Order: sequence, then C-alpha cells, then structure tokens
Amino acid sequence: MDVYGLLGNPVGHSLSPPMHEAAYDDLDLDARYVTFEPDQDAIAAAIEGAGALGVSGLNVTIPFKQDVLELVVADELATRIGAVNTIDFTGDGGPTGHNTDAVGALRALQDHGVTIDGADAVVVGAGGAGRAIAFGLADAGATVAIANRTESTAHDLADSVPEATGHGLDALSTLLADADVLINATSVGMEEDATPVPRELLHDELAVMDAVYQPLETRLLRDAADVGATTVDGAWMLLYQGVEAFELWTGQDAPVDAMNAALRSKL
Ligand code: NAP
Repeated sequence: MDVYGLLGNPVGHSLSPPMHEAAYDDLDLDARYVTFEPDQDAIAAAIEGAGALGVSGLNVTIPFKQDVLELVVADELATRIGAVNTIDFTGDGGPTGHNTDAVGALRALQDHGVTIDGADAVVVGAGGAGRAIAFGLADAGATVAIANRTESTAHDLADSVPEATGHGLDALSTLLADADVLINATSVGMEEDATPVPRELLHDELAVMDAVYQPLETRLLRDAADVGATTVDGAWMLLYQGVEAFELWTGQDAPVDAMNAALRSKL
C-alpha cells in the first residue's frame, strides 16, 4: 500500500484526506492518505522519518510550508515562492519539494475559461497564498499588480515577481478599472461576511477568484456575480493544488470529477 499524507498543525478539519482518497477509490489504487500533526521542533525528524518509513508523498500546510523549504530539495518555483506545499519521496535523490498552489490557482482559472497570458491581473494579499498566486500568474504571462493592507509587503513581493508592481489597498480603484482578473488572496471573507474589494470597483469584464473556500460563496463572489463578472470559488484552487500533487506523486492523470465531488460534499 502507498501512503500519502498531510503535515500541518492543526490538520483536524483538512479536506485533503477525502479528496485524495476519492481519487484512490476511483482509480482502484491501493493507497491511503493520513494526517500528521508534529510539533514545530519535530518537523525535520518527521520528514526524515516519513522517508525512512516509505511514505510516498506529503502535502504541507500551515505552519510548516516555509520551514520545509530547507529540509528538502526544492524545485525552482517553490524556491522562488519561498514555500513548499508538496513533498515527493518517490525519486532516488531524497525528498523533493514543490509548490502546487501556484499551478492550482492557474488551473482553477483556466477551467473557467479565463485567459491568463496577456491579462492584467490584480492580486489582493501578499501572504502565502498571494505569493504563490502572483508567481503563478506572472509565469503564465499575466501582468500582475499586488495590493496589500501592509503596503511594504506588496512592494517586497513585487520586487521578486517578474514585471509586477506593489500597492496599498487604496490603489484598487485605479488598478481594477482596466483589469481582467482579480484574485482575493487575503483571509477577508472567511470569518465574517466582509470583502477586501468594495463592490463599486467590480465590473462585468472581470474574472474574480477567491482563495477563501469557507464559505464557498463569499461576499466578494456574490458582489462579482451581481455585476456580471465570471466567478471562481476557492474550492477550485484547493481542488487543483490537490490534483497537481496527485499527478506529481503517481505520474497519472487525476480523476478530477471524483476529487471535486468528494471535496464539495464536505463544504
Ligand atoms: P497569510 O499568509 O496569513 O496572509 C494573509 C493575507 O491576508 C495578508 O496579505 C494580510 O495582509 C491579509 N489580511 C488579513 N486580514 C486582513 C484584513 N482585515 N484586511 C486586509 N487584508 C488582510 O494567509 P494565507 O496562507 O496567504 O491565506 C490567505 C487565505 O487564502 C486564507 O483564507 C486561506 O484559507 C486561503 N488559501 C486558500 C487556498 C486554496 O487552495 N483555496 C490555498 C492557500 C490559502 P497583511 O500583510 O497586511 O497582514
């Protein structure tokens, strides 16, 4: 049996186990996906132990995504983003680290008919999700503007993302007037019915994706649908980062519909 899992703390409410186990069921694979909750100071031992025990792959979530970077051979994209969310133990040269959040966001948008190459994209937020999404969009040919509550963080990120610019939230009105794509990569909308982007700045030529997936229908997405924008909820990004991890680990196409159904049944 192949063993996969999730490293994080806490991981109790993770949606990754049902999503990945649905893929194993659908393809009749002899595999299990389990969660691990090590203490912060045991993370290196946890990864070494997983390798020694023959674990095939691990996803990594808060608070370990940055720490793991130093403990594996990280690929170029994960290194630029500064975070690993997927570890692959199946190669010969020890564990390798990858970041599937970036490609996950891209695949979520592309799945909804959104063209990235040549698009003007606005990413609100410059934390872990914002970093991955900004690099993913820029690599796929978008011109990226990053707007963040703490403006200096947006500038710092923009300095490392190709052709990107950094801004405070007060620039959103100007940035969104001619934008094609808007992504919320802040946690705003998760705890309360709030939005980081005033409704009057939205328009029907925008594609709007929210990284927040609980709730699925955030205030931002409700407002975006009201003005006729294309909307993409955060579960699509969550789905496709999992799909990418599955494909990296197994080398075969993921059963996307089965994974999506399992994920959405839990939301
Ligand atoms: P993070 O690293 O803690 O970053 C949080 C971001 O939100 C920062 O840019 C922060 O701005 C901003 N922010 C927080 N409170 C704010 C407020 N009241 N007003 C304006 N901006 C505010 O978190 P993260 O890991 O990037 O996660 C962000 C969200 O994305 C979470 O809801 C998470 O669940 C979601 N996410 C989804 C996926 C997916 O697959 N769908 C993947 C990863 C994350 P400052 O810099 O000013 O503090």
